[in-house]
Amino acid sequence: MSVAFHGAEFCWMNGDIVETKSALVSAMEPIHLGIFEGIKAYVENDVTSKGSLNIFQWESHVHRLRRSAAVCGMKIPYSDEALLEATRKTVRANGFDTNVYIQPRIWPKAGAMEEVHIVIPVWRFETVLGKDNPQFSKNRRFMISTWRRIASDALPAQAKTWANYGNSALALREAVRLGRDGAIFLDNRGFVSEGTGACIMAVRNARVITPPVTASILESVTRDTLLKIMPEDLSIPVEVRDIARVELYASDEVFLCGTGGEITPIGSIDDLPLGKEYPGALTKRIAEYYTDVIAGKVQKYKEWLTAV
Ligand code: PMP
Repeated sequence: MSVAFHGAEFCWMNGDIVETKSALVSAMEPIHLGIFEGIKAYVENDVTSKGSLNIFQWESHVHRLRRSAAVCGMKIPYSDEALLEATRKTVRANGFDTNVYIQPRIWPKAGAMEEVHIVIPVWRFETVLGKDNPQFSKNRRFMISTWRRIASDALPAQAKTWANYGNSALALREAVRLGRDGAIFLDNRGFVSEGTGACIMAVRNARVITPPVTASILESVTRDTLLKIMPEDLSIPVEVRDIARVELYASDEVFLCGTGGEITPIGSIDDLPLGKEYPGALTKRIAEYYTDVIAGKVQKYKEWLTAV
């Protein structure tokens, strides 16, 4: 089995930098018990051009990786510093000097639940952020999925375990089959939960509302980041509370937030257009400020950046 990750020649596996094509395991591995993280490194000063690279919110991501491991009864036999060094080495080995996505993966070894495999693949990505990026303002038609978000007494929705992504994949496949760009889950109580790989925020009467962690959402680093910067730096009131499906349809703006999709506005849900203008003014303002934060332009949040 040979896997190429978007051109990344090298990855880190169980202690060493190896050629990605040689990072092989048995097909008998219990992959369904795996956990992972999705982390991004951005170029300083301008998220798109060349400059020094910084990992955004490294500590929060490693913290969540450890919590995901704890939930699954796995131990990570490396310190945070060792994982950071491994990540730095992997990015450098590939010679990457622009935006890099980093996805540490951990799963128990076949027949040895106490031991784990750890692999750190990396690859380049195109950001949707940045002034006048057409990818940002692209119209996105979403639907409410017919699949409910996994209940957290069935799978650990709040942790980043691969098993949860079967649920996401079914919802996304359904959406694509029906000609939509993405899906939004309701939780098992019927309240709005999240997207298939991102959290959701709605703007109503100049306030941003977002579902609580108990609505079967992943404990998202981006959501936490926005919940801090929106009220503190942009004077946008935020409310963490259950959201009814009806409220979502009748919102002025709706956007997703997550490491992968960054900040992505949604144009319509179930073909009901949202708000008066697209992308909405608040979504644009939030995305612009977030772009500055990840590019190290906001002095007080430089502590969220870790040099590669
Ligand atoms: N929910 C799900 C299901 C996700 O996969 C992600 C992406 N990791 C998020 C939310 C957003 O989390 P974060 O902001 O930490 O990337």
